[in-house]
Amino acid sequence: MAIRKIVIVGGGTAGWMAGAALSRLIKGNDLSITLVESEMIGTVGVGEATIPPFVGFNDMLGIKERELLSEISGTFKLGIQFENWGKKGDSYIHPFGAYGYSMGGISFHQVWHKFKESGDNRPLQVFNLETMAAYFGKFARTADYKKREDLPPINYAYHLDAGKYAQYLRKYAEMNGVVRQEGKVDDVALDGESGFVKSIRLESGQVLEGDFFVDCTGFRGLLIEQALKTGYEDWSHWLPCNRAVALPCAREDGSPPPPFTRAIAHSAGWQWQVPLQHRNGNGHVYCSEHMSDDEAHHILVNNIAGKPQADPNFLRFLTGHRKKFWNKNVVALGLSAGFMEPLESTSIHLINTGIDKLISLLSLDGVQQVHEDTFNRLTLREYIRIRDFLILHYNATTRDDSDFWNYVRTMSVPDTLTEKIEIFKANGQIFREEDELFTESSWTAVMMGQGIAMNGRNPMADTFNLMETKKELDEMEQSIRYLVQHMPGHGDYLAKYCPARAA
Ligand code: FAD
Repeated sequence: MAIRKIVIVGGGTAGWMAGAALSRLIKGNDLSITLVESEMIGTVGVGEATIPPFVGFNDMLGIKERELLSEISGTFKLGIQFENWGKKGDSYIHPFGAYGYSMGGISFHQVWHKFKESGDNRPLQVFNLETMAAYFGKFARTADYKKREDLPPINYAYHLDAGKYAQYLRKYAEMNGVVRQEGKVDDVALDGESGFVKSIRLESGQVLEGDFFVDCTGFRGLLIEQALKTGYEDWSHWLPCNRAVALPCAREDGSPPPPFTRAIAHSAGWQWQVPLQHRNGNGHVYCSEHMSDDEAHHILVNNIAGKPQADPNFLRFLTGHRKKFWNKNVVALGLSAGFMEPLESTSIHLINTGIDKLISLLSLDGVQQVHEDTFNRLTLREYIRIRDFLILHYNATTRDDSDFWNYVRTMSVPDTLTEKIEIFKANGQIFREEDELFTESSWTAVMMGQGIAMNGRNPMADTFNLMETKKELDEMEQSIRYLVQHMPGHGDYLAKYCPARAA
């Protein structure tokens, strides 16, 4: 059946990202798009840290970065600082850019390892621009120094106010012809023969028919689960945190926002700190088997930079994913598709890649089984790779100060992750599987940051001429130092480039 009416149910980050991206299909096609949302239900209202492909998503929509960041009180993010993960007192940055550059066909950290063993005690971090800029609270964009081609690019993402971002995209989508419908959906009708969703009914009695539905209703999965009974794959034995409490606060010391997210491990989970221009987003993700809500809240309140700006927002979740992300004529995006904790800011990214795949596969001539199968296969692959990366943070630890850490340190992990860790230990090699999200540098940052040592290296590194290679390393370090010295402070950069619009 041809697709003439698309209905998006839900108007959180997922709904409006889908609305904005799909709205570009309206012009030139015989297509209507309606987005239904309920102010009474509201959104989760969290989700403020992103990763670099998100910059590309907004760019693809033709959104101007300066305007966007002003509207959403955004800041720049060069990576994530992990504190207390490998052991208490530890700290490392997982940066968005690479360590050095590959030399003679092998990864930079292999060459660095050779030098380290020869007595060069420079840490790997000095060869990464994003890490060094983050440590010094500096920021610039590659475009700011484009005349110097010898300097490395700067990879970044944004911190954003989730509510303001959804509002911004709403304006964009409505301008392109998406029709917003306020109302609470109280019934979903299926076609008796195909089992496809035929229509939804609002509490007002209004019925909205559709040929294709995008379920963005959050954890409840109104269409994908409640109507289509798709089923859920539970991964909580590997990622046992199942609660969060969020609490934005003022930044009272007047310090500029740091250009990175902080992820601070506690006794049964971890705390995020996401700096926006006007406040910090904070939250504590924890495991209810090992910590009560009161204790989690208490820890959070005692570890934030200023006065809370709202009541605590307690959230429950189950790590895992729907058995199908696309089922019949419904695609689930966002929290209705699945959830993995925000340790590496991957949820909004999965909305983004879900939309990309949907736009690539969607044929307005109708849904075919092959569309559904391809979407599900590719999405599952993405989920599994991200899952393994998240598990690494918990499993690669020496912490033994709580039952929680004893569990995650000793649990059995997926074979795919064991393989990655064993190969890295043997000779520092990381194989990036197909088009997996996390790069070799990302895996290296977390493995080394959490104390997994390379016991050997790629033998190719031992064939390099030490004198010549040292010169290259020195130049790399110097160009990073030069660039960081000449970058403005992150706060100054924001004030000049994209000051937050008054609320
Ligand atoms: P929601 O925000 O829950 O929106 C659901 C929408 O559906 C709402 O508009 C609601 O009104 C509507 N709806 C529901 N039922 C009905 C109904 N019956 N009738 C009509 N409308 C209905 N992601 C990141 O990328 N980075 C992060 O740092 C990050 N941090 C997070 C921290 C926590 C604790 C959690 C839980 C999530 C975090 N996420 C993060 C994930 C991120 O918040 C979500 O991916 C994102 O907000 C998308 O949510 P959503 O739109 O799917 O759902």
